[in-house]
Amino acid sequence: MDEAKFMVKKHTTRPKKNKTKAISAKTIVGETDSAKKIIALIYDFDGTLSPKNMQEYAFLPKIKINPKSFWQEVRDLSIERQAEPLITYMHLMYQKAQEKNVQILRDDLVAQGRQVEFCPGVEKWFALINAYVKKQSKDTVQVRHYLISSGLKEIIEGTKIFNHFHNVFASEYYFDAYQLPYPKRVITDTSKTQYLFRINKGVEDVNLSINSHMPEEQRPIPFSQMIYFGDGETDVPSMAVTRQNKGFAIAVYPKQKSAKICKDLFNVGRVDFYAQADYTKGSPLHKRTTLLIDHILCDIKVREEKASLDRDS
Ligand SMILES: [Mg+2]
Repeated sequence: MDEAKFMVKKHTTRPKKNKTKAISAKTIVGETDSAKKIIALIYDFDGTLSPKNMQEYAFLPKIKINPKSFWQEVRDLSIERQAEPLITYMHLMYQKAQEKNVQILRDDLVAQGRQVEFCPGVEKWFALINAYVKKQSKDTVQVRHYLISSGLKEIIEGTKIFNHFHNVFASEYYFDAYQLPYPKRVITDTSKTQYLFRINKGVEDVNLSINSHMPEEQRPIPFSQMIYFGDGETDVPSMAVTRQNKGFAIAVYPKQKSAKICKDLFNVGRVDFYAQADYTKGSPLHKRTTLLIDHILCDIKVREEKASLDRDS
């Protein structure tokens, strides 16, 4: 989510369906080479792949609510009630719809996803990166794209890019629990990091515990083979976890917005690069991403060479 929405100023309390089965340490042992050669590109959604928040393309217009005043009300209510802003926005969305006598069902949200717009080049980005990794690695390394978003999985499911993701982790509703839909999964900026560890350990089934110990060498996607893309301070926990574990992070800013937050993140060493959220071939973002991919591929080769020496000695 765009951090501007949830910046609490006064009180600083501050692609398919998931088909991936958990990979236990037992299954990974013995298939280390093939299992390890995966690069994961992990994206935030709002402000990173799409210039605006996903609710602003169809949901808020449908109930005739101005986005600025909606997000301001979320901030005000969160402060007043000392409530979690993510739960507050999920509740307020449906409360506002109810006030306007507009019924919005799961299928409506999915249909609204078709109206979500993307930053330049996003729709072709996934094939572009897949082809690059295939060529550079001589088809020995696989790339996966993941999405971790505080936005709504229902809307993301309807977007044109949904099928490009190996997995999507996002907030979700129960649609039949109460009169108003009730949050089923809430992903905040800090809880996003749980999903980084799920990707790292290969435990992507959210019903399985992520907390069991798994030795580093048994984890299918080391952090050093991850690049995290985010647009702001709500991404800081994910960027920090990725980089502290030898992974990479790139901050992006949509053309319509200032680069200041990204520059600030770069200047204090929280990201490796920053660039405008232009995903077209040859853009600075494309060049910096492929540079990091080259770095990761080289690192994989170095580790493989060392491992071959270990085996010989
Ligand atoms: Mg964002």
